[in-house]
Amino acid sequence: MGELGGFLKIERSGVTYRDASERVADYQEFLVAKPTEELREQGGRCMDCGVPFCHNGCPLGNLIPDWNDLVYRDRWQDAIRQLHATNNFPEFTGRLCPAPCVAACVLEIREGDADTIKQIENSIIDTAWEHGWVVPEPPHTETGRRVAVVGGGPAGLAAAQQLRRAGHSVVLFERDEAVGGLMRFGVPDFKIEKWVIERRVQQLVDEGVEIRCDVDVGVDVTAEELREEYDAVVLTTGSRVPRELEVPGRELDGIHPAMDYLYVRNRAIAKEDPSDGVITAAGKHVVVIGGGDTGADCVGNSLREGALSVAQLELLPEPPARRPDELTPWPLWPQKYRLSYAMEEGKAVGKAEQDYSVVTTHLTGADGTVQELHYAQAAPAPPFGPVEGTEGTLKADLVLLAMGFLHPEPELIDQFGLGKDPRGNIKAATYETSVAGVFAAGDCRRGQSLIVWAINEGRQAARMADRYLSALAGEEPQPMLVGGGDADEGPEGPPKHADGSL
Ligand SMILES: Cc1cc2nc3c(=O)[nH]c(=O)nc-3n(C[C@H](O)[C@H](O)[C@H](O)COP(=O)(O)OP(=O)(O)OC[C@H]3O[C@@H](n4cnc5c(N)ncnc54)[C@H](O)[C@@H]3O)c2cc1C
Ligand code: SF4
Repeated sequence: MGELGGFLKIERSGVTYRDASERVADYQEFLVAKPTEELREQGGRCMDCGVPFCHNGCPLGNLIPDWNDLVYRDRWQDAIRQLHATNNFPEFTGRLCPAPCVAACVLEIREGDADTIKQIENSIIDTAWEHGWVVPEPPHTETGRRVAVVGGGPAGLAAAQQLRRAGHSVVLFERDEAVGGLMRFGVPDFKIEKWVIERRVQQLVDEGVEIRCDVDVGVDVTAEELREEYDAVVLTTGSRVPRELEVPGRELDGIHPAMDYLYVRNRAIAKEDPSDGVITAAGKHVVVIGGGDTGADCVGNSLREGALSVAQLELLPEPPARRPDELTPWPLWPQKYRLSYAMEEGKAVGKAEQDYSVVTTHLTGADGTVQELHYAQAAPAPPFGPVEGTEGTLKADLVLLAMGFLHPEPELIDQFGLGKDPRGNIKAATYETSVAGVFAAGDCRRGQSLIVWAINEGRQAARMADRYLSALAGEEPQPMLVGGGDADEGPEGPPKHADGSL
C-alpha cells in the first residue's frame, strides 16, 4: 500500500489556500486544488500502518488508507467508489471538515507530519464530478413506505439520500427557501460556493427525493399531520438557539446574534434577496464575541464588506502552540492554538486582531445604538469573571454574538412529545426518540457539532428508520445501499451498488 517508505522520502504538503491579502477582496472559494502528480505523491506517503488510526479519527469511518493507495495508483474512479461507501458528500467535508483524521494519523506522532488526507478527499470527489462519475443512484425497487425528513442540513440530506436509496418514498421539509442548513446560510461562499451544494441536491432530486422548501414544520404542517401521513419521521432540525450575552446594554441597536448577520450575508451573496442587507459591517468598527468557527466567519465577512476594524474576543485563555500531551495526547484532537483563516486575512490587511481571556462587562451607546464595548481581562478559570484593574473600552458600531448554540428550538420537539437530554437536545441514544417511528440526527440530537458528524448521524438514523420500517412490514432488514453503516456496528465494508456488486 502506498510507496514503500514514501513518508521518509516525500515531504508533507498540507492544504493550500489562496493568498490571504488577495482572497479577502472577493467571495470565491479560497481552497486551491493541487496538481494530480503532487496528490499522488502525497497519497504515497500513507505508510500502511498495521493499525491505522486515521479512520477512527474520522467520524464517518472513511477508509482513508484504501483511497490514499488508489490515488497513488492513479485509480481515481475506484477511489470515489471507496469514498462514497462511507461518505455521501465528500465535497462538503473535503472543503469544510477540520480533519480529526489528520490529528489521528500515525505520522502525526511526529507533530506536523501527518498525511494530507482532507485535500486528497476533496480532489477525489472533484475529479469524480468532472468526469461524470457521480450519477443518480435511484433504488431498483420501491418499498411503498413513506418517510418525512424535517430539516435540509447535512444530516437531513444524508438521511434522505440513504432512505431513498433503500427504496422508501422520501419527502424532505425545509423551513428556509433552500436546503443546505448552516452550510448554506452560515458558512460563507469563500469556504464553499453554493453551487457545490446545489449540484448534490440535484442528485438527490434525480434519485426521487421530494424537497419541499418554505415549510416550517410545526407551523405550516403539524407533528400530528406528519405522523398520520408518514410511516416514519426523521428530525434533523439543527441546534439553533444561540447563547446570549447577559450584560447591561445588550438591548442597544447594532448588537446581533452571529447567525442573523450570516443569513443576511449569504442571502446577499446569492442575490436571492439583496435588499435584506439590514445588518452590515461596511464602514464600521466591528467586535465579534466568540473565538470559534462562527466568529471567524463573521470576521471573514466583515473584512470583505469593508469594515474599518474587526476585533474578535474570546473568553477562554489562549491555547498552547503545540499539542498539550497531558490533555489531548495523540490520537485525540489537540486542543492547541490555530490561526483561523479569517485572522490570517485580518492580519494580512492590518484590520483585525484576536484577543483571549477577555470578558465583556457592558455596552454603551447614544440614541439607542451601540458605540462602545467595555471589557476586562477574564480570570483564568470558570466562571471567568473580570479581573479588577484590567478594564478597557473598544469602539463598537456593530457587535456580533458568536458564543455558540445551546440546543434545538423546543417547539417542534414538544409538539412531537419527545424526551430531551439535560442540555435540551432530542434524547435519542440510538437515533430512536422516545416516540416510536420518530428518529433524530445531527446537531438537534448531539448538540452543535460538525458537518462530518451530521452526515454520519443522518446515515445512522436512516439505518435505524429503515430497520423500523422493515420490522413494521414483518421483513428482515436488508443491508443499506452504498455502504450504509450500522448504528451499533460502525460502517460496513466496501461500496455496494443496488445489485450488491462492488
Ligand atoms: C457559521 C458557522 C460555520 C460553521 N462552519 C463549519 C465548518 O467549517 N466545518 C464544519 O464541519 N462545521 C461547521 N459548522 C457546523 C455545521 O455547520 C453544523 O454542525 C451542521 O450544519 C449541522 O448539520 P444539521 O443538519 O444537524 O443542522 P443544520 O445545518 O442546522 O440544518 C438544520 C436544518 O433544519 C431546518 N429546520 C429547522 N427547524 C425546522 C422546521 N421546524 N421545519 C423545517 N425545517 C426546519 C433549518 O432551516 C436547517 O436548514 C459551522 C456552523 C456555523 C454556525
Ligand atoms: S471527513 Fe473529515 S475526518 Fe473524515 S477523512 Fe474527511 S477530512 Fe478526515
